Amino acid sequence: MAENLKIKALGGAREVGRSGFLVSYSGEKYLFDYGLKINIDVIESLEYPERQFYPLPIRENVNGVILSHAHLDHSGLIPKLFDKDLFSYMHPATLDISKILWKDTIKIADLNKEKFPFPKENIRKADKYTFALGYDKEVQISDKTFIEFKDAGHILGSCLCYLSIDNKKILYTGDFKIEETNLHKGVDLRKLERNLNVLMIESTYGDREHPDRNKEEKRFVESCLDVVENGGNVVAPSFAVGRSQELAEILYRHKFPYPVYMDGMGKTVSNIFLNYPKSVKDFSMLKKSLKHTIMVESPRERNKVLKSPSVVITTAGMMQGGPVYYYLPEIYDNERNAVFLTGFQVEKTPGRQVLEKKEIFVDDQRLKLKADVKKFDFSAHAGKKDLFSMVKKSNPEHVVLVHGDSKVIDILKKDLEKEGFKVHAPYQGDVLTLK
Ligand SMILES: [Zn+2]
Ligand SMILES: [Zn+2]
Repeated sequence: MAENLKIKALGGAREVGRSGFLVSYSGEKYLFDYGLKINIDVIESLEYPERQFYPLPIRENVNGVILSHAHLDHSGLIPKLFDKDLFSYMHPATLDISKILWKDTIKIADLNKEKFPFPKENIRKADKYTFALGYDKEVQISDKTFIEFKDAGHILGSCLCYLSIDNKKILYTGDFKIEETNLHKGVDLRKLERNLNVLMIESTYGDREHPDRNKEEKRFVESCLDVVENGGNVVAPSFAVGRSQELAEILYRHKFPYPVYMDGMGKTVSNIFLNYPKSVKDFSMLKKSLKHTIMVESPRERNKVLKSPSVVITTAGMMQGGPVYYYLPEIYDNERNAVFLTGFQVEKTPGRQVLEKKEIFVDDQRLKLKADVKKFDFSAHAGKKDLFSMVKKSNPEHVVLVHGDSKVIDILKKDLEKEGFKVHAPYQGDVLTLK
C-alpha cells in the first residue's frame, strides 16, 4: 500500500521568515530551506535571543537540504546543519551570496552581543557540504530521488525547486517572480512541469497586485530628481542582494544627472553579479550601471557623499543596521533631504517605523525625521495574478501555501478553493499528511 507524503512546517508557515519545510516520502526526508526570522527589533532580541528567531529544530534524520535562494529568511540557519554532516543542494550563486550573508549574520550577532546562531567555522564547511547545481538540469540524488532547479526570477541564483521522490512530484517555489525586472527575466511559464502532486508556493502578495513597474521606476527617478535639484540628498535603504543593483541600473538607464553612490554589503554582492553573466537579463547594461555608480570604499569617503546633492543606495534595506546609520543622523533634520524606502518593510523593523511614524532610534536617541519619506514598490515577488498562474500551470493535486502573513494566506486559500484546488495552509509545527 502506498504510503502518504508528509510535510512538516518548521517555520515560514503563516509568516514571512525562518522558512523550513521537511518533506517525507517513501523512507526519505528532504528539507526545503532553513532560514532566520529577521523582523525582531534589537531590544527584543537582546532580551530573548532565541525566542522566535529560528525555525523548529530538526529531530529526524534528513537525506538532504535544498536551498531555494540566498535570502536569510531561507538560508540563514543552513550552516547549523553542517554540524550534522547534512548535505545541501543550491545554485552556485546562492552559495556565493549566502556565504557573505552568513558572515554578516555572525558579525551582527557579535555586535549585538547575541549568541551566534551557528559556529563561525561552519561557514568554511559550506563548500564541502554543498552540491552546486545550475538551472534546467535534472540530477539523481538517491535511488529514487531526483532534483531540478529552474530560474525563479526573484534574485540572482533563486530557484524553483523540483523534487521527485519515488515518482511523487513536488515543487517548492521559494520566492519567485514571473514578471521581468531590470535584472531578471522572471519565471518561464512554458518550462513549468504540469500535473504535480504537491505545489508548495510562496504567498507573500497573495491578496494584491504590484503597481505598474515602469511607472514606479519613473516615480522613483523623478522623486530623486526633485530632491537633488532642490539641493538635497536622497538616502535609499536597499537590500544588498538585487535591489541595490537594480536601483543603480534604473538611475543609469534614466540618465540620472547627479552622482549615485553605493555603500554597504550591496557593493560586495555587486561583484558576485559580475561572475554570473548568464543569470542576468542584460549583463552589459548592469555592468555599465555598476561602473557608473560610485562605490563608497571607506568611512572617510562617506564624508564626501553628502557634501553635494546626490543619491546614496545603502544597506540595510529595512534599516536594521549597516551604513544607513552613518547617513541618517546627517540628513534627517532637513526637509530638503529624503529617505526613499525601496523594499518590503516587515513589521517592527526600523524601516517600518520610519515609514509609519517618521521616527527612528539611533544610539537610544529618538530622531524625528523632517526629511521626506517615500516608499516604492520594486517587489521581486509574484503578485496575486501571477501566483494564480503558477498554480494553474502546475495544476497540482495539493497546493500548500507558505511564506505569507496569516490574513493574506486565508484570502488566497479561499480564492484558490473557489477555482477548485485542494489547498492547505499549515501553521508552525503542523504536519500535513497528503494522500
Ligand atoms: Zn527572497
Ligand atoms: Zn523569503
